[in-house]
Amino acid sequence: ANTQGSKYEYVFKVLLLGDSGVGKSNLVIRYQRDEFSPQSRNTIGVDFSTGSIEIEGKTVGAHFWDTSGQERFRSITSAFYRGAYGAFLVYDISKKETFDNVQERWLHELRYSTSQDIVITLIGNKSDLESTRQVGREEAKAFADQNGFSFMETSAKDAQNVRTAFESILTEIYHREI
Ligand code: GDP
Ligand code: MG
Repeated sequence: ANTQGSKYEYVFKVLLLGDSGVGKSNLVIRYQRDEFSPQSRNTIGVDFSTGSIEIEGKTVGAHFWDTSGQERFRSITSAFYRGAYGAFLVYDISKKETFDNVQERWLHELRYSTSQDIVITLIGNKSDLESTRQVGREEAKAFADQNGFSFMETSAKDAQNVRTAFESILTEIYHREI
């Protein structure tokens, strides 16, 4: 429901979680502005960005929260998690440790910090880096299935699946909430 004074009837807060460098900021930039930034931005704090989407004739607002660097050296504050309807758990398909950290750190933090049952999508980003892949599609899919998450491989660089990933999670939240 709309508790944030927005012009939309519904506003869904969606988190982007995952190790520094997996491409969280670029996924949002690709979805919102259809751009890609080869430089990593190291601003400390929470990156906040708003968008909207048409679902079944209704315009639904979306707030995307990206940790923007703080994930590297300290834990995320509870305000970051508060009121979230959905989350992307993001790893880099060319860096195995980022997938391990989704299982060993991010999923636990998310579960610990959110009381409600939120919609989660596992994202294997940088699918353009096929030649240096370290995380198999099957392995990731199996982990997602075990936990009831959706799963998608994306590339913020060449835009593969990015729109689909955002539209899917917002549509899934919409159907769950409304
Ligand atoms: P964040 O720390 O998770 O927010 O990651 P960033 O969005 O800042 O991206 C980290 C680095 O990875 C930057 O140099 C990006 O240009 C690069 N990057 C992000 N997404 C992709 C992608 O899909 N493919 C490739 N090849 N590089 C990417
Ligand atoms: Mg970032």
